[in-house]
Amino acid sequence: MPEEMPKEMPGEKPEESISVNKLSKLQLTEVDTCSKCAHCAEYCPTYTGTKKPELIPGGKATSLSRLVDKQKGLWSRLRKPKPVSKEELEKIASNLYTCTLCGRCHVVCPFSIQTEDLWRKTRAIMYDAGLSPQPIMMLDGGIEQKGNPYNSNADLRTMWTDFMDSSEVPVKEKAELVFFVGCTSALKAQTQDIPAAVAAILNRVGEDWTFIGEEERCCGSPSLMIGHWEKARELAKHNTALFEARGARRIVTNCPGCYRALKKYPELVGHKLDFEVFHFVELMNEYLKNGRISIKEKFKEKIVYHDPCELGRLSGITEDPRAVLSAITEQPVEFPENRSDSRCCGGGGLLMAVNGDLRLQIGEYRVNQAKKVGAEIITSACPSCKMVLDDAAKSLNTGMKVLDLAELVALWLAASPHAKP
Ligand code: SF4
Ligand code: SF4
Repeated sequence: MPEEMPKEMPGEKPEESISVNKLSKLQLTEVDTCSKCAHCAEYCPTYTGTKKPELIPGGKATSLSRLVDKQKGLWSRLRKPKPVSKEELEKIASNLYTCTLCGRCHVVCPFSIQTEDLWRKTRAIMYDAGLSPQPIMMLDGGIEQKGNPYNSNADLRTMWTDFMDSSEVPVKEKAELVFFVGCTSALKAQTQDIPAAVAAILNRVGEDWTFIGEEERCCGSPSLMIGHWEKARELAKHNTALFEARGARRIVTNCPGCYRALKKYPELVGHKLDFEVFHFVELMNEYLKNGRISIKEKFKEKIVYHDPCELGRLSGITEDPRAVLSAITEQPVEFPENRSDSRCCGGGGLLMAVNGDLRLQIGEYRVNQAKKVGAEIITSACPSCKMVLDDAAKSLNTGMKVLDLAELVALWLAASPHAKP
């Protein structure tokens, strides 16, 4: 994430008010360098899905460089440059939001350009200028009005607990561990089994835990992707107050987007915090290592692990999930592109809002890769990955199951009620 965050609030602004001054000097140079390059094209999921050159990083940078040249270029200092039309600006914004923010372009970039920072900062420029695409503004509106990007009522946040006994989902005033469920796991029917699985495992190991429920708000990750950083700060303050009121020392989430946003809370709230943030897969591996859960019989199916971009490439958590997978299956298999070189499934960057067809196409590419390695089950550690891979597996009619690692572990524990040592 960029070090400097803009202070402006969103709103309608004239075209002239778009300023590339928010980009650092290094980033202005990077835009220029990137606009002359296409090295990462075949690694970019939005390009391989569309073959549209304007969607590769170099293409995004080329359209951006029109703005940069106009405001910073030599010719613009010597004579009045041709204005950038509203249509061009909307096209630049559309290209910037047609991106999963997967960060793979950075990994393969020979110039080590911090592309994720660049795309987020340029999205913020578009947002501040009122140029974000309409579907993005609808997500922003949902977060503003209902505290989640799905525009769902707050009472639906506990829907995932409806089929559970109240003793299985403890609501406590104080707890050492708070499970941050996140909007996708709480509100999307396709992923509501994941928090139920997390709860089952936390209960099995006897953690002192609770969850927030209706008062929980979006973690801030979508706002950071939209470019509405002020809203992310506000959400961070809201959720932090809830964690602190419960005396939590550990915040655990099963969503990599939430994980990265929560990790950023000290910066967003502006001071050091007394709790640590974990992804649930880190805890599961810890439980296996210290014997709090033990797996005696393993799944027989071939299971492939898909690295969520925000957990693997962007957070460096690649081995905990593999250790968990190896503990529960006899036949773990690998994608040809894995760990920091993993191929995005299409579920990130809010692509679902701006181009649902492309999201599905990218997901299908990944499911076809899973088929090629002979996988019978695809697993991951992210509700957004589960949604897109599940949609893709169904649209390709593969019959392939898509389950979160927490679901696999909970399934095994449910089938083995005496497995706890
Ligand atoms: S991100 Fe790097 S590799 Fe990709 S087009 Fe830009 S300069 Fe080239
Ligand atoms: S972050 Fe991912 S989707 Fe976006 S330009 Fe880079 S490789 Fe393409």
